[in-house]
Amino acid sequence: MESNYELIIGLEVHVQSKTKSKMFCSCDSNYFNTPPNTHVCPVCFGLPGALPVPNRRAVELCIKTSLALNCEISKDTKFDRKNYFYPDLPKGFQISQYDKPIGLNGNLEIETVSGLKRIGITRVHQEEDTGKSIHNNGETFLDFNKSGVPLIEIVSEPDFRTKEEVTTYCKRLRQIVRYLKISNADMERGEMRFELNMSLRKAGETSLPNYKVEVKNIASISVLEKVIDYEIRRQSEILDQGETPKQETRGLIDMTGETTSQRSKENEADYRYFPEPDIPLIEISDEMISKIRKELVELPQQKKERYIKDFGIEASNAETIISDVQTYKEFETLVKNTDKAVIFEVAKWYTGEYFALQNNSIKNSNFSPSSLVELVTLVTEKKITRANAKDALIESYTTGKTIEEIIKEKGYEVVSDMGQIEKVVDTIMSSNPKAVDDARKNPNAAMFLVGQAMRELKGQADAQSVKDLIMSKLK
Ligand SMILES: [Zn+2]
Repeated sequence: MESNYELIIGLEVHVQSKTKSKMFCSCDSNYFNTPPNTHVCPVCFGLPGALPVPNRRAVELCIKTSLALNCEISKDTKFDRKNYFYPDLPKGFQISQYDKPIGLNGNLEIETVSGLKRIGITRVHQEEDTGKSIHNNGETFLDFNKSGVPLIEIVSEPDFRTKEEVTTYCKRLRQIVRYLKISNADMERGEMRFELNMSLRKAGETSLPNYKVEVKNIASISVLEKVIDYEIRRQSEILDQGETPKQETRGLIDMTGETTSQRSKENEADYRYFPEPDIPLIEISDEMISKIRKELVELPQQKKERYIKDFGIEASNAETIISDVQTYKEFETLVKNTDKAVIFEVAKWYTGEYFALQNNSIKNSNFSPSSLVELVTLVTEKKITRANAKDALIESYTTGKTIEEIIKEKGYEVVSDMGQIEKVVDTIMSSNPKAVDDARKNPNAAMFLVGQAMRELKGQADAQSVKDLIMSKLK
């Protein structure tokens, strides 16, 4: 970015909770790909007199999110009406939370180029989704299947200073809600959405800028990145001319990240928040909190740090393994009874060769991932060479034969009989006198002899031992 300016970003992330029913009625909240207006009732249509009843599980999931993000929990929380008009909001208000959100004052630590950085979480609150407007040939249709689906809103402090911090945060957040079964956070289904609050200030300034641009309804992390790039260009051009960008809400034109002015940004007073009279205060007991706290599991960042610290797994391998629940579970099952000294090597093979096979080859149903551990153990014990181990893995994966069978069939056992190796080395050295001479003058030239000996041994010996033997004979 233009080095004259520093980026100031705050994020609001909406996550759709994984509940059977909607937030305030018993309609099925699993509406994806269902015919319009088939998951509806008087409550989600907003008909007069229909009474909302809060979904207990949704409230629990919101508490769980708050706990995972180190928030304080409001002991008495309440719902409020956020008033605004929109065709897909039939009540004329959305039930949300205003001054007593479920979670407050939390944080999430993310990795940055200069170490861990703590991003402040202002609040975590529970609300309901709106319906959906479908525009078609100049007509607008309304589908209320989405109306009333529970959403958790996670609001950050304006703590982000780079685009990379934003994407790291979004990815960690997505992992956390998936680890904790709070949400599937499937962006293609709109289950995780972003709102960006962004401004720029001159490098070196410490106070927050006197304007803020909001971009709503960003459906993916890649589009979010493009919006940030676009807004950096747009806002810095205005600032370069000595002017201040307008405080406003901007909308996405398309997926390129370009935005256009929609309206001057509304402030809280415009929404005329007031307590939802149809829902009583909700008390959250210590007992409830401690019960939910017990549902928490080791979170991605902690898991990564433990892998690195306890097993010496390389950071990039650890990051790949923790990226999703299925992957870390498979890996942890795999190494459950494995010698600690081998685990970092298993991680390397698992994220390298094994992932490549999964992407490129057809797996035989007989293949068991535990073969990988068996193979890596043989490699570290120098009972099979790396190159042969790779071949054996591919063959086992595609044919379902066991590693043992393949090693036997192909004669992959490493020759560890030093007498046999010495015989081969002696023959090679006596039939290549010039190479021996060269190697005496220049030790690098000995690699030719090593290569010849390894060829004679069909690659089934430990190259380092062969080299050591040759070097000792050159003296
Ligand atoms: Zn309903």
